[in-house]
Amino acid sequence: MNDMKKFNLPQLPYGENDLSPVISSNTVQLHYGKHHQAYFNMLNTLAEGTKYNDMTLEDVVVHSFNDKEQKIFNNAGQAWNHIIYWEQMKPGGENYPSGKLNSMIEDSFGGFESFKDQFIQQSVGVFGSGWCWLVQNDDKLEIMGLPNAENPLAHGKITLMGIDVWEHAYYLDYKNVRPDYVKALLEKSINWSFVADQLK
Ligand code: MN
Repeated sequence: MNDMKKFNLPQLPYGENDLSPVISSNTVQLHYGKHHQAYFNMLNTLAEGTKYNDMTLEDVVVHSFNDKEQKIFNNAGQAWNHIIYWEQMKPGGENYPSGKLNSMIEDSFGGFESFKDQFIQQSVGVFGSGWCWLVQNDDKLEIMGLPNAENPLAHGKITLMGIDVWEHAYYLDYKNVRPDYVKALLEKSINWSFVADQLK
C-alpha cells in the first residue's frame, strides 16, 4: 500500500514483545504505536502547504528549530528522536561497547561504569519531559540532557544515542523510578555496535 503522507513512521526493527522485560510490549505498543505515530500525524498536518513539506525530516528538525517554529519543531523533533530511540536498541542488547567507541568512553568518562553513572545522573536532572543524549564533539564524547523535543541535531552536534526520559517511556514498567529504567536500557538493551556506527 502506498501511503500518501509525506512523513511516515518507520517499521519497528524488532517485534513489540522483543525488548521485554526491559521494555514491555504494553509500553512499546503505546510508545511506538500511539505516541511516535502521533508525532508523525501531527507533523504531516502542520507541514502540509508549508516549505517544510518539501524537506527531509532531518532538515525540518534543523530549520524549524532555527525558525523558532515551535509546533513543527516539537513534532518533527520527537518524530526524529524516537527513530533513534528504537533503532539504537536490540533484543538482548550488547553488554559493552567495543573498539573506538569504548576507547572514547574511557577517554571522556573514565570508563564504561563511570559513563553509566554520569548518564544516569544527567537523565535524572532532566526536569519533566526531555531526553538524555550521548553526543560526539570532535574526539570527545559528551552527555547532554535536553528538554522536550530538543536534540543534538538541532544544536549542530552528532547524535550517538538518546534515551527518552518522559514518563510515558517508563511509567508502566518502572513506575516513577527513572534511574532504574535508564540503567536497565544501558545495561540490557542498547546495541552498542549501532551507537559506534554513528561516530563520524
Ligand atoms: Mn516518547
